[in-house]
Amino acid sequence: MIYPIVKFGDPVLEKPAAPVTVFDDELKKLVEDMFESMYAAHGVGLAAPQIGISKRLAVVDISFKEDPNAKLVLVNPEIVHTEGRHSQNEGCLSVPEFREPVTRATKVTVRAQDIDGEVFEKTGEDLLARAFLHETDHLNGKLYISHLSALKRDLIKRKIRKLMKAGQW
Ligand SMILES: [Zn+2]
Repeated sequence: MIYPIVKFGDPVLEKPAAPVTVFDDELKKLVEDMFESMYAAHGVGLAAPQIGISKRLAVVDISFKEDPNAKLVLVNPEIVHTEGRHSQNEGCLSVPEFREPVTRATKVTVRAQDIDGEVFEKTGEDLLARAFLHETDHLNGKLYISHLSALKRDLIKRKIRKLMKAGQW
């Protein structure tokens, strides 16, 4: 099932999500649906709050279907190590049409549980590192625009409010 993506303005995106405690078939189905929804929206990462479900769960595939081994499920992820700094354009399915440079670590280690509840650690660089940070932020109720300068962020919010008024958001 493809879920619609929740956009900026919905409070679910700005509150910390609840830990996942049950690893059952329902969770597996939700993960499948999240991959499907992410691909349908042409994204490389999706956090559960972005489909209106306030749970600490995210899916990532920076290869966008090219490499089946690149499909990652992050349950209750935590960032345990970061290294380096790099600025690159970043966007978000919940803030469509906008892209802004965001400075993030270049190498990131995440500790998470897999779909069966097994704890694992994975280190990613560049785009994968960025995805780990972006998706973990989502689970803490934080959007990438919170990393921008207040000036830039306000400009984006003003444009979004205009789009909302026009019924285009
Ligand atoms: Zn996002």
